[in-house]
Amino acid sequence: MHELGLLSGVVPAVVEAASQRGATGCEAVGLQVGALTGAVPEALQGAWPLATAGTILEGARLEIEPLPAAIWCPGCQAEVEIDQFYALTCPICATPSGQLVHGREFQVTWADLTGT
Ligand SMILES: [Zn+2]
Repeated sequence: MHELGLLSGVVPAVVEAASQRGATGCEAVGLQVGALTGAVPEALQGAWPLATAGTILEGARLEIEPLPAAIWCPGCQAEVEIDQFYALTCPICATPSGQLVHGREFQVTWADLTGT
């Protein structure tokens, strides 16, 4: 499962940070998920209990913050959201841009720890 692999990549760092702060548990975790990661929110929710089993995060609520993919378009001089199928071409003016600014995020942005 793709999602379990992605979660397994971020959970240890959160567990580590939580134990360093002396946390005894965790209420909820916020996760930014970029559109280009290919991760499906429902599948992430399904994999979350497996990825956190036996850790301080077990039982915590997973709050997913989806981030659309976006590029910086030199034609529009703006950040433009793209459909992932447009690759890195501006959907408004068709200018190719190699500058992806959002979409590959897969990171825990906050954790509501208890016992700290
Ligand atoms: Zn443009």
